[in-house]
Amino acid sequence: MQIPFVDLKAQYARLKPEIDARIQRVLDHGQFIMGPEVRELETALASHSGARHAVGLSSGSDALLVPLLASNIGRGGAVFLPSFTFTATAEMILLAGATPVFVDVDAQTFNMDPLDLDRKIKRVAAAGDLVPRAVIAVDLFGLPADYAKIGVIAKQHNLLMIADAAQSFGADAAGRMVGTLAEVTAISFFPAKPLGGYGDGGALLTDNDELAALYRSVRSHGQGEDKYDIVRLGLNARLDTLQAAILLAKLGVFTDEIASRRKLADYYDARLTQYLTTPVRVEGANSAWAQYTVQCDDREALRTALGKAGIPTAIYYPRPMHLQPAYAAWGDGEGSLLVSEALAGRVLSLPMHPYMSEETAELICRAVIEAVSR
Ligand SMILES: *Cc1c(COP(=O)(O)O)cnc(C)c1O
Repeated sequence: MQIPFVDLKAQYARLKPEIDARIQRVLDHGQFIMGPEVRELETALASHSGARHAVGLSSGSDALLVPLLASNIGRGGAVFLPSFTFTATAEMILLAGATPVFVDVDAQTFNMDPLDLDRKIKRVAAAGDLVPRAVIAVDLFGLPADYAKIGVIAKQHNLLMIADAAQSFGADAAGRMVGTLAEVTAISFFPAKPLGGYGDGGALLTDNDELAALYRSVRSHGQGEDKYDIVRLGLNARLDTLQAAILLAKLGVFTDEIASRRKLADYYDARLTQYLTTPVRVEGANSAWAQYTVQCDDREALRTALGKAGIPTAIYYPRPMHLQPAYAAWGDGEGSLLVSEALAGRVLSLPMHPYMSEETAELICRAVIEAVSR
């Protein structure tokens, strides 16, 4: 028997009537670009998160690029990001023409280390050849970054605070939902994310009226008053109507799905904490549990044993961004960000989705315990 890492089929079986009807409605009205479902989803996302505005976009990656373009953060600007993240965070900074400055992460939360951020900002400011412009903190595996500290540092230095919440929509911290924890929040609807579509998609969330208007312009080629009034450099970065329709159906059960993910994480914790390093719990924060990621000394042995038992695992991420060949020129090489480098060699993500039975969870736990007790 092969256990799925993420079970989209079980979700579709649950939501088939709603999803099929939503898709059919789009096929009937035929407004495939910026149809009414896009605005309907934006309103629903804003109300779900408590953010004033949601702007639907073509991907989570574009949701990182759009705010940089909209605020003219490019050549000569420094953008600070954690090195232990998905490629897109670094990639979009470079595509905007800005310079990525890699920051180390906290060994427990895997998220941006505020002390190292402060150090890196001061170093860039002192060197004088780049102007610090923005911070992109990442909510890795669904756990919100420490915005209470990072947001204050960003404000002190007058930097745009962007949350890369591609993995954390549905999470909360200090009683506030993701979408309201940073000035600007980028989310992704890649199929395997907690709120995933059936293709690419993303959104920006913000309370700032001016920024929201800019993001709407940038996503449609920088248009002004109308389609042929081009007032700034933009992109084709619109969310497809079909994806918006599918996401509207999925949003109806999203809170319930997050609760199921939390239940599974609690189960894993209860069974596994005495055998290996399970994810940290942060006071006042609730993860969206995009991933359940453990740490162990002999990762390859555990991964091989689980693979033989039909249990898929994933390594997010095997190499930090400052050591990726494409980005190494902007980093300080091996030994410069020790926590990120150590985590890349130790992390292993277990199957995580809202449709796992307790029997399957127990089977996975037993296989993990057996493998690490050998
Ligand atoms: C998935 C992801 C992205 C990119 O999202 P896409 O929708 O795939 O473009 C960006 N940052 C992080 C941390 C991600 O996990």
